[in-house]
Amino acid sequence: MNFTAEINRRRTFGIISHPDAGKTTLTEKLLLFGGAIQEAGAVKSNKIKKGATSDFMEIERQRGISVATSVLAFEYDGIKINILDTPGHKDFAEDTFRTLTAVDSVIVVIDVAKGVEEQTEKLVEVCRMRNIPMIVFINKLDREGKDAFDLLDEIEQKLGLRVTPLSFPIGMGYDFKGIYNLWEKNVNLFSGDSRKNIEETIEVSDLNSSMLNDLIGDQAADELRENIELVDGIYPNFDKNSYLKGELQPVFFGSALNNFGVRELLDCFVDIAPKPRAKKSEERLVAPEEKNFSGFVFKIHANMDPNHRDRLAFIKVVSGEFKRNTPYLHVRLNKKLKFSSPNAFFAEKKQIVDISYPGDIVGLHDTGNFKIGDTLTEGEVIHYKGIPSFSPEHFRYINNADPMKSKQLYKGIDQLMDEGVAQLFTLDYNGRKVIGTVGALQYEVIQYRLEHEYGAKCTYENLNVHKACWIQTDDEKSEEFQEFLRVKQRYLARDKRNQLVFLADSQFSLQMSQQKFPSITFHMTSEFD
Ligand code: GDP
Repeated sequence: MNFTAEINRRRTFGIISHPDAGKTTLTEKLLLFGGAIQEAGAVKSNKIKKGATSDFMEIERQRGISVATSVLAFEYDGIKINILDTPGHKDFAEDTFRTLTAVDSVIVVIDVAKGVEEQTEKLVEVCRMRNIPMIVFINKLDREGKDAFDLLDEIEQKLGLRVTPLSFPIGMGYDFKGIYNLWEKNVNLFSGDSRKNIEETIEVSDLNSSMLNDLIGDQAADELRENIELVDGIYPNFDKNSYLKGELQPVFFGSALNNFGVRELLDCFVDIAPKPRAKKSEERLVAPEEKNFSGFVFKIHANMDPNHRDRLAFIKVVSGEFKRNTPYLHVRLNKKLKFSSPNAFFAEKKQIVDISYPGDIVGLHDTGNFKIGDTLTEGEVIHYKGIPSFSPEHFRYINNADPMKSKQLYKGIDQLMDEGVAQLFTLDYNGRKVIGTVGALQYEVIQYRLEHEYGAKCTYENLNVHKACWIQTDDEKSEEFQEFLRVKQRYLARDKRNQLVFLADSQFSLQMSQQKFPSITFHMTSEFD
């Protein structure tokens, strides 16, 4: 197969949802269709379970699983599908945001009874800002839930999407009879026993035919006709281009657990989802078809075994072919590196590959060369955009609790920050180090990992910070800026890239500063034009 054909047959996407909506179950069913796994239960849930074990042990367990589920690849209908894992738990939101920089599209899973939940809102917002094409899957139709039209309204309003259903449920919960597929114009009957088998569909090209009444009964048939008429009247026609631009989101209904409605979703997905897309870099737009290889690191996974400090860096191939044992330029270090055993992913297994194509994810063994956001190329200086840091929610001073081990401590902190576990800020006026995290759990994880992997001990001290804002000014010499630096001296810090950050202690003080220093921009993320 030639290079262009390899690119065209790749689909790299992520499934996003609030925990418990059914992401793991759906992933597993997709893998079943691809023949990549043989039985249900093969994909482990990477969820944080509350209960018996303490939270950070639970995170360690999760970390073990997420090595295996970071990338799940399979083939379906000649298409190479790469699913990138996106943790739903809010403490891992940063991880998910970063992974979303490596996907070409997403599927959003929503629980029919719970509707749009908090994490769905946040993650969809990030995708919307980047115009990532989205397909919505409404799950658990075998249970009582919200009315389909109400739910579509809720999705439009809370998520700011413009939807059009491509399938529609016939009944719900106890009365759930199946779904009508507007895309393929057929009815798929629910027997409640399709968990193992791939269901049969029945062509109903004319909704007015009496065949529909025979299939689902008079009442349900009439109701379906009415509903489809409403759908036709209210929602825009599906248009692939609008979907690809992120302006229209098709919706499917089904039950992942019962493997129902999943095939429809998958068939439509391989039909419409984008192949690898061009990516913006600071220098220029890079197209996948370009001959020269380039790619970027979106995730780093530390080895679970403390005796092997090596890590796995996940690279998304953006352009060209990534080849084994070929020297590539590590742009930030300005150094050539070559990799003798790059890993590709297949279902839950890794294997060494000789060549990877745009859209693929390669896992590279790393002894500390990589940070999230690093770019590899064949020599050109490219810096990929779109891997911002967001303001953390929690801030604490980190102190060294064992003066004999300060080298280990700093090395540990450095490496954990490279992995993206948390963000480090160094206060300008006294050099003290502040750790910012998305969830409070991360502090326990850091403490635990510093001790077990680096032999260092730390303590924390509270620090009252509301938000970290990245500071931008056109004129560093201006009086206004100098005044800002002077007045806010105690609240200024540097992030890992040495960018200036203002640690605002309250919403009020942030607003006051914005008013008082109008020539300064206070950014909520580390990346801006
Ligand atoms: P995740 O947190 O989004 O990965 O959710 P899971 O896939 O782990 O599912 C959460 C729970 O919902 C599990 O107990 C699943 O068995 C259940 N579940 C998933 N899909 C369905 C469905 O279609 N119907 C019903 N009744 N339960 C489901």
